[in-house]
Amino acid sequence: MALVNEYFLNLSDNYLFADIAKKVSAFKRTHPRIEVISLGIGDVTQPLCPAVTDALHRAVSEMETVSGFHGYGPEQGYAFLREAILKNDFATRGIHLDIKEIFINDGAKSDTGNIQELIRWDNSVGVTDPVYPVYLDSNAMIGRTGPKDDDGRWTNVAYLPCTAENNFVPQLPDRRVDVIYLCYPNNPTGTVLTRTELRKWVNYALENDALIFFDAAYEAYIQDPEIPHSIYEIRGARKCAIEFRSFSKTAGFTGLRCGYTVVPDEVTASTLAGRRVALNPLWNRRQCTKFNGASYLSQRAAEAVYTPAGREQVRRTVSYYMQNAQLLRTTLSRLGFKVYGGENAPYVWMRTPGGRSSWKFFEEMLYGAHVVCTPGVGFGPSGEGYVRFTAFGNREKTEEALARIEKWSQ
Ligand SMILES: *Cc1c(COP(=O)(O)O)cnc(C)c1O
Repeated sequence: MALVNEYFLNLSDNYLFADIAKKVSAFKRTHPRIEVISLGIGDVTQPLCPAVTDALHRAVSEMETVSGFHGYGPEQGYAFLREAILKNDFATRGIHLDIKEIFINDGAKSDTGNIQELIRWDNSVGVTDPVYPVYLDSNAMIGRTGPKDDDGRWTNVAYLPCTAENNFVPQLPDRRVDVIYLCYPNNPTGTVLTRTELRKWVNYALENDALIFFDAAYEAYIQDPEIPHSIYEIRGARKCAIEFRSFSKTAGFTGLRCGYTVVPDEVTASTLAGRRVALNPLWNRRQCTKFNGASYLSQRAAEAVYTPAGREQVRRTVSYYMQNAQLLRTTLSRLGFKVYGGENAPYVWMRTPGGRSSWKFFEEMLYGAHVVCTPGVGFGPSGEGYVRFTAFGNREKTEEALARIEKWSQ
């Protein structure tokens, strides 16, 4: 008899965005003539930049020829891309990594979900709350989070609330955690950590022999020069942190797929008997067994992001989205809403007025203004009473949505 992995049964049935889609389509059935504007899902809308599509066309032409054809590539990624990453994302910030420490992937979601395979099932996990759902669900699938309690919280997880009350700065956990997931700039709150705040976490990890899984998918949106882009800007982080990056939000690769993971040589974890084991060779071993490399095409496309033209074009798109964020912030504040984030991230996090629940406000705005946001509670219990607006829309739609919200809220 094949026995199912029952830990899957602990996961909630419905994925947040499926719930939203269901409510939106219910609205559309009863209001077929109204066009709904979505500032909900976190996908980008602007096309790939010319430097990237030129590189893609060139790579396709190569693949048509016998001499330029590429079959299986290295599981860790091509050296041309890993070297461009070392030079442009790290050396320019005084971080000197080795090529062996960079692993190219098909996007950060896979590796942020897979990385937990490197640690035993009985480690304890800490996450900021609200949070990108992948971290907890991937741990839940192997039973590390324990079952859910009556409030829908995983029993074996240390939730670190990030709310307006603590200015979205998570406090160090009051119980032992072996692994901490941090995502900065943050999805969903759009907030960031200063160097001092991030240093506190690195020191905590070093003192408590914990690991930090640091998701920097939104690094390209940081505007303030004082905010760290990489956790390796903090001394000691190479001993305790694994970092995830992605071209998805940086350069519009959500449909093309490419990202990378940094596993420094010095990151170790302990065996039960107390022997230190380096995680880099383990991750390499894992990737060589379960992953056959990102496509040659997407790696050539990612390489083009680092050319002078690519950098300039990507910078322009980022700034386009950040102007949307600015528009969302200023308009919503002017209308009397309390907004957070959106200054170094493409998300604006808003408190629902009058203590409404996230879903109640979502429905009211859908029916009243025909605009979709994302209910904050979908990202965790501390997201209750907030909603998320994305700055990834196009300008005209964002402006139109804000005009509708203005009219509706008066
Ligand atoms: C979008 C996003 C990613 C990137 O996902 P990809 O798989 O690279 O497209 C990673 N982490 C967070 C928090 C995200 O919001």
